[in-house]
Amino acid sequence: MNQLTVDLGERSYPILIGKGLLRQLPQQLAARGIEPRQTLFIVSDEHVAPLYLEQVVNGLEQAGYRCGYHIVPAGEQVKSLAYLEEITGKALEIGLDRNSVFLALGGGVIGDLTGFCAAAYMRGVPFVQIPTTLLAHDSSVGGKVAVNHPLGKNIIGAFHQPSLVLYDTETLTTLPKREIYAGFAEVLKHGLIWSESFTNWLSDNASSLLSLESPFIEEAIQQGCAIKAEVVSNDEREQGLRAILNLGHTFGHALEAISSYGGLIHGEAISIGMVAAALLAERIGLTKAEDRVAERTISLLKQYHLPVQLPSAFAIDDILAAMRHDKKGKDGKFVFVLPTAIGAVEIVENVDEADIIETLKICKE
Ligand code: NAD
Ligand code: MG
Repeated sequence: MNQLTVDLGERSYPILIGKGLLRQLPQQLAARGIEPRQTLFIVSDEHVAPLYLEQVVNGLEQAGYRCGYHIVPAGEQVKSLAYLEEITGKALEIGLDRNSVFLALGGGVIGDLTGFCAAAYMRGVPFVQIPTTLLAHDSSVGGKVAVNHPLGKNIIGAFHQPSLVLYDTETLTTLPKREIYAGFAEVLKHGLIWSESFTNWLSDNASSLLSLESPFIEEAIQQGCAIKAEVVSNDEREQGLRAILNLGHTFGHALEAISSYGGLIHGEAISIGMVAAALLAERIGLTKAEDRVAERTISLLKQYHLPVQLPSAFAIDDILAAMRHDKKGKDGKFVFVLPTAIGAVEIVENVDEADIIETLKICKE
């Protein structure tokens, strides 16, 4: 088992990564001081629950925990106020109190939704992340929890750190291929913002990683989480540094919003967004030509079967309009995280709209 800590004083918590860890859930909860007198409430989705819920509930009950659960449909649309209300209703029905603990069993959607429910329920109860997608190596760490508003992604949210992240890499084997590729987008992002050597390692070991081979996959998750944990430990509430985690997200969130969170999945949208960011960086002179940042970014994303071009159905005007709604905009200006090299980024304010438009044109299919 690999172990990391997100270092946030009294809100610090461990990230445990390893094969078969679900079986250790009861003892790991106990190690975090979560005791059988506290009722547990598991939220999962209709894809994950049939695969893993019974095992989790049985293990917990055998260890003396009482647990209820609620299953929601799969997909981004459950990150909404309607599902917050539904889950809260279920929590009240089964009598959860301030000592209860929410458990998010699923991908980033379940983690964000359950975390926000936990943040709001009776003004905040603890929660545990049990990520089951590769993408969730990112979303389960750092305490950003949210639901969407029809006008923008993650607009209604909070900072609420989990008490534990327990990552059983065996669960990844049931993921559809498309979700595996999309999950790698955030792993690659962690390399691209922070470490050229990790990025090169991801490129060199792409085939082992794509087939989820041990110990490569554990190592990739560990490195990705370690980068995220370090950034979050230095800037929990995004006063500065943490914004670098948004590489590709200004464009990416806009693409997700105009495809109504349906056409492109998150990792695919940010893959295209990271290409756009690299091209924009080259255009405004942030990178050195000999570093070939855009070219290398594109070929790395292609190794992981990720999209690198803007589908022709997306109108540039619509993308710009969606970007204006995004909360990453500051005083009406566009703020971007842009690469300066492979493994290094900068936050750039005041990017000219004309440069954005030209970049998007180059990105089009
Ligand atoms: P997801 O939770 O929708 O999971 C993707 C799909 O895989 C779903 O259909 C799900 O049912 C299915 N699935 C999950 N685990 C499975 C398994 N083990 N086997 C088979 N199927 C499985 O999406 P995601 O890609 O994990 O997460 C995307 C979300 O994460 C977005 O809403 C994004 O905004 C959010 N996110 C949040 C943060 C953060 O810091 N909070 C960071 C990155 C992304
Ligand atoms: Mg993301």
